[in-house]
Amino acid sequence: MDYSNIRKTPQGIAILNSLKSSHNHPTANDIYQDVINKFPKISLATVYKNLNKLTKQKMIQEIYIRNEPNRFDKNPFTHYHMICSSCGDVKDLSYPVLYEIESFVSDLYNFLVSDHVFNLYGICEKCQ
Ligand code: ZN
Ligand code: MN
Repeated sequence: MDYSNIRKTPQGIAILNSLKSSHNHPTANDIYQDVINKFPKISLATVYKNLNKLTKQKMIQEIYIRNEPNRFDKNPFTHYHMICSSCGDVKDLSYPVLYEIESFVSDLYNFLVSDHVFNLYGICEKCQ
């Protein structure tokens, strides 16, 4: 089966568009609740399948959060997030990508770094 065609289905396109038009970092369920308006028969499993495929294709990225459902991000490029432990808000952080640690680890441990993840947990301005 050619999975690259998944996102070319009307549902796949609607899922990608839903994520692209969101201003936060929605969960798969948030996207499901949005897309179901247009496709009442769509299942949460289909939403997950499409999101996983888009993630594998590096068109979007998945954000793993401690003790919380994963979020999805329309921006596939490395950037960092501030995660509020009180309201669960996930915000982009404008900060240079930490390439130094990647080359440091590559050099010191002979470990071929492909990627890194860096989350900041705390309390947002609204929740303080
Ligand atoms: Zn908050
Ligand atoms: Mn982001």
